[in-house]
Amino acid sequence: MPLNPTFENEKRVLDNGYVRLVDVMGDDSSPDSDARISTGVAARSEAQQTTLVRFLLRHKHTTPFEGSVIKFEVRAPIMVIREWFRHRTFSYNEESGRYKQLDPLYYTPDASRVSYQAKSNHQGSGEQHPDAPNFVVQWREEQQEFEEEYNALIQTHNVARELARLNMPVSHYSTFVVTGNLLNWFRFLELRMAEGAQYEIRVYANAIFELAKQYFPRSFEAFQDYWLEAVTLSGREAKLLSQMLSNTISEKSFTNALPEPSPDFTKREAEEFRRKLIHIGLLSEA
Ligand SMILES: Cc1cc2nc3c(=O)[nH]c(=O)nc-3n(C[C@H](O)[C@H](O)[C@H](O)COP(=O)(O)OP(=O)(O)OC[C@H]3O[C@@H](n4cnc5c(N)ncnc54)[C@H](O)[C@@H]3O)c2cc1C
Repeated sequence: MPLNPTFENEKRVLDNGYVRLVDVMGDDSSPDSDARISTGVAARSEAQQTTLVRFLLRHKHTTPFEGSVIKFEVRAPIMVIREWFRHRTFSYNEESGRYKQLDPLYYTPDASRVSYQAKSNHQGSGEQHPDAPNFVVQWREEQQEFEEEYNALIQTHNVARELARLNMPVSHYSTFVVTGNLLNWFRFLELRMAEGAQYEIRVYANAIFELAKQYFPRSFEAFQDYWLEAVTLSGREAKLLSQMLSNTISEKSFTNALPEPSPDFTKREAEEFRRKLIHIGLLSEA
């Protein structure tokens, strides 16, 4: 059912952007109930649901997360939208510069965001640029110039809107609607909340995460634990770690460190953790 726009469903992003949660299908019990079709067992307690949701995400059994859907309306600079639309498994609709004259909204970063090209990361920003305030003024002037030209082409010369936008900068804002299931959102957020993602899309991803998790707190907690904050070792890294720390964990210290079993960390998960430590040689087989 479409949601009423409320403060909880909307976040301002950058200088003129926003994300607005417009619709939700399903809730935190949906992945559990979709998964239960496999076994036919009846509806279960919250604790059992949590255990299953965590198990499913931990083991990448992802289809039960495809049954819940979230739709957002987003206003973002074209530069951000170009990155966003690479996520091909979402469904999109965007406002059209052929049908309407686009709103005079542009993105200019804060001066503190304007940096030198990073030396090590070819895609990223490095140290702050001392001339940043001048560049911000320059960008604003150029945006203003384009806006005047765009407006004159349409309003004074009656040039078709589809061509009047020819020189539109990627700082111009556009608005779109994006619909995806929970798995789509997890994949998007994993890539776009990461440190390596460009700041301008990262702030949108962070806003989406905050809004979406209100509706699926258990699923997003599991996503955070097993995807966002998880660390994967390559085969070579695991071997190196094993050489450095071979058999340094005793069975006793392992057992003592384990928390009491709970839906957030079951006995089964503790055993899986034990197998991982044995696999990389930190713990020897009991
Ligand atoms: C930090 C960063 C830098 C990037 N830099 C660049 C860049 O310089 N140039 C550039 O072009 N892109 C760049 N990208 C975009 C990137 O290559 C992906 O296109 C984008 O992140 C979308 O990811 P995806 O394909 O997994 O997502 P989706 O398109 O949503 O796909 C989701 C999943 O569906 C499956 N899938 C979808 N389509 C196919 C298919 N055709 N064949 C097989 N499996 C499919 C895959 O498992 C995929 O992971 C960058 C992305 C990031 C996060």
